[in-house]
Amino acid sequence: MATKSTAKSMKKTESSRRPPIKIKPGKMLIDGEWMDSCSGRTFETINPATGRAITRIAEGDDKDVDLAVNAARMAFESGPWPNMDARDRGRILAKVAELIEKNQEELAILETMDNGKPITQSRTVDVPYTADTFFYYAGWADKIHGETIPVRGNMFNYTLREPVGVVGQIIPWNFPLLMAAWKLGPALTCGNTVVLKPSKFTTLTCLRLGELFMEAGLPKGVLNIVTGPGETVGEALARHPGVDKVAFTGETLTGKEIMRAAADTLKRVSLELGGKSPNIVFADADIEEAVKGALTGIFFNQGECCCAASRLFLERKIHDQFMDRMVSFASKMRVGDPLDPKTEMGPLISEAQFNKVMDYIDTGKEEGAELACGGKSMESDGYFVRPTIFDNVRNDMKIAREEIFGPVVSALTFKSIDEAIESGNQTPYGLAAAVWTKDIKKAHAAARQLRAGTVWINTYNAFDAASPFGGYKQSGFGRELGIHSLELYTQIKSVWVNLS
Ligand code: NAD
Repeated sequence: MATKSTAKSMKKTESSRRPPIKIKPGKMLIDGEWMDSCSGRTFETINPATGRAITRIAEGDDKDVDLAVNAARMAFESGPWPNMDARDRGRILAKVAELIEKNQEELAILETMDNGKPITQSRTVDVPYTADTFFYYAGWADKIHGETIPVRGNMFNYTLREPVGVVGQIIPWNFPLLMAAWKLGPALTCGNTVVLKPSKFTTLTCLRLGELFMEAGLPKGVLNIVTGPGETVGEALARHPGVDKVAFTGETLTGKEIMRAAADTLKRVSLELGGKSPNIVFADADIEEAVKGALTGIFFNQGECCCAASRLFLERKIHDQFMDRMVSFASKMRVGDPLDPKTEMGPLISEAQFNKVMDYIDTGKEEGAELACGGKSMESDGYFVRPTIFDNVRNDMKIAREEIFGPVVSALTFKSIDEAIESGNQTPYGLAAAVWTKDIKKAHAAARQLRAGTVWINTYNAFDAASPFGGYKQSGFGRELGIHSLELYTQIKSVWVNLS
């Protein structure tokens, strides 16, 4: 197995050598103040393209979580936020969205340096979609309301839709800004207060976002950000009796731990977890479009996507033609310095992730799958893996069953729609799926039968702040985005008035 300690240095480009923006050490945001951790400890955040430290970040623990939860509690019980005119709450969220747009280049560079994703993607996807999510939820602030209910008797019954209270939000490293927006947008628009815990691998844009919230006039204590490892900060947040709800995005195994930690205090829990999504191409599909979809489905964001199209099901008669096209494109993809606008794929997030993905590639070869392209790392101090396609994979192989979370796709074949659906559903996950066909009946039949929270027809990775996203089966529960996310962050009170 190739490890980074054995890899030689690649020639550094100008952009990977010198940070194009000024980066400060990371402090935590608690009760409107930027502070060091109680212990004074810090940790390094690494640029995955170079393996070098970018800066140091405050390392929180349960004491910092305690401070942050108390600040969020005070802000909820006695601060202005939950009772503010809803439209004014919306204005602050809209202001944040405007500030994100104003600072988009800085945010894009920070995201790319900390995460490794190509700068073109940070500029065109991560940052604009983050602003869009806040604009969308800004619009909801004054449209969240209860109902009047025609009950029996001389009674007036109505409902109030109220915020849940203090919310703990734990997010992963693959879309740091965007995951923060998916969580903060709906939670804040409903009037909750928040303690946010970013991944320790990607803290920088969340901290910058915290600054933008302060600049937009968010009252103190409404958004608190505690940085540090999941096992300490995340666990303390999930367990804390002062937290009313925990929202988590990350691995399925971690999600199970969070549920256990939250059980003692019966917190509300919503989980967005892993996936092993089937991408099904029928022979009557537009093959060129389907090839493009299969490529972005798996290689977008280095394959570090919960909804990555990691299992490609090809109808047998188009298999050879499809694989030829796909392998030809994948072999030519530009992998390298993520700050170079021409780069299509950057490094994986960390050395551990790199080793995990390379181990899966070894396993695929050992299991007898055919390596059609890629399978290699690159000579570099960064954590680069070439786009990798395995052909002749069986559904029972480890590479077809487990979430790899890297640029590795397993291609399988099928003969009938029933076989495609049955094999596609053969996974404990159920996050996303796609079908490619010109037959509208077949497309909708497949969409109904696939057990996944999102089904794409003749497209992949389509997202909008207004459309719900979330998992079936062990990919989690609760829906983020759209009107559905408001359910996660509100509770209903029934009020009875005796009119007789
Ligand atoms: P992870 O589970 O390792 O970490 C996610 C977050 O949880 C991090 O902030 C981490 O510090 C924290 N954490 C870790 N252990 C914890 C614990 N014991 N208690 C509380 N918090 C803890 O996941 P990751 O490696 O950061 O992200 C990759 C995973 O996220 C993949 O499985 C991917 O599929 C999933 N993901 C899912 C979605 C979705 O919407 N379904 C979106 C993005 C990523």
